[in-house]
Amino acid sequence: MSNLKHASTVGPDRPDRPISLTAPTGIDRAAHHRLDEAWLAAAWSHPTTRVFVVSGGQVLIDDRPDGTTELVMTPAFEAPVTETHRYFLGTDADGVSYFALQKDSLPGRMDQSARPAGLREAGLLLSDRDAGLMVHAVALENWQRLHRFCSRCGERTVIAAAGHIRRCQACGAEHYPRTDPAVIMLVTDDQDRALLGRQVHWPEGRFSTLAGFVEPGESIEQSVAREVFEEAGVTVGEVDYIASQPWPFPSSLMLGFFARATSSEINVDGEEIHEARWFSREDLAAAFESGEVLPPYGISIASRLIELWYGKPLPKPGDVV
Ligand SMILES: [Zn+2]
Repeated sequence: MSNLKHASTVGPDRPDRPISLTAPTGIDRAAHHRLDEAWLAAAWSHPTTRVFVVSGGQVLIDDRPDGTTELVMTPAFEAPVTETHRYFLGTDADGVSYFALQKDSLPGRMDQSARPAGLREAGLLLSDRDAGLMVHAVALENWQRLHRFCSRCGERTVIAAAGHIRRCQACGAEHYPRTDPAVIMLVTDDQDRALLGRQVHWPEGRFSTLAGFVEPGESIEQSVAREVFEEAGVTVGEVDYIASQPWPFPSSLMLGFFARATSSEINVDGEEIHEARWFSREDLAAAFESGEVLPPYGISIASRLIELWYGKPLPKPGDVV
């Protein structure tokens, strides 16, 4: 067992905790090894190597008696060796190599407490290292699944570079994992109120930050201003970058900002955003307390942006504010 096993640092009540999925993982992706088949074969067969299965965005996690949760990993010799979709994820400071295997289903682990989990759940429970390994594997799996055919000639592509390239055998094109930038922003006005919106498909009371995809030929600052105006009719001036978060649902990178409004009248688009409101901290606390507003989902950078503005951890449903 790796001596890197450590407790989760993403506790629910630490206001100084890193935003989920953005913390250092301690893993060197070691991209220079991806095309070195001899090195990969030696790494795969090394007794310290750790392997986990990813399937449909899920992995097996294990809730430990001490309250921590681990990604279930095995030595390579216990892993299903017939699998050809093998992703090399990197090495740690002790030289331990990590691989993910993409399978059609997760292996049965009936003899243990392991259970399947997706990233929205596991990202909050796993250590930074394990969450980082999982998000890398899930992002690769999503990309592999959606890019089986060459976008240049239409023929089938095959996996290469330990999961990080898909190569077309007909025309020779190499396709690389795609990441779609998206902006997510907490907009505040001159009274330091926060603009939160409810998307049309969200349940009643679920409010969060505004967000949207960066369009071709657009800077991220322009994208922030455009999205806020399109969705809520509010103009913004100054934009400050806060943090980013991989969001492989299926392939986004969320770029998080604080943005200052230069107008206050709200005019929602009705297509993406059903309702938007300005909240003071007191408004939001009262709305949480009454149940009128539901806090955003925990793993999202949205919750951390709101929390940074709010000044303390957001209450959970049922808390007395
Ligand atoms: Zn091709």
